[in-house]
Amino acid sequence: MHQCYYCDQIFDSKEDLYEHSEIHSDSERNNEIKDRQKKIKSKLGSKKKLLKKNRARVRINQI
Ligand SMILES: [Zn+2]
Repeated sequence: MHQCYYCDQIFDSKEDLYEHSEIHSDSERNNEIKDRQKKIKSKLGSKKKLLKKNRARVRINQI
């Protein structure tokens, strides 16, 4: 078992830990990943809103 030096995550293989530790070693990259996750989350959020809008339209058409 290999535990990350920066956080409490545990990995079965050294390769996995090494790959993971890159997230911590490069703070710029880390911020990039966080930004991407934020963008993905906001995209998902806007998709949900669109779905609600479409549903509302369907309801209006049915009436
Ligand atoms: Zn970690």
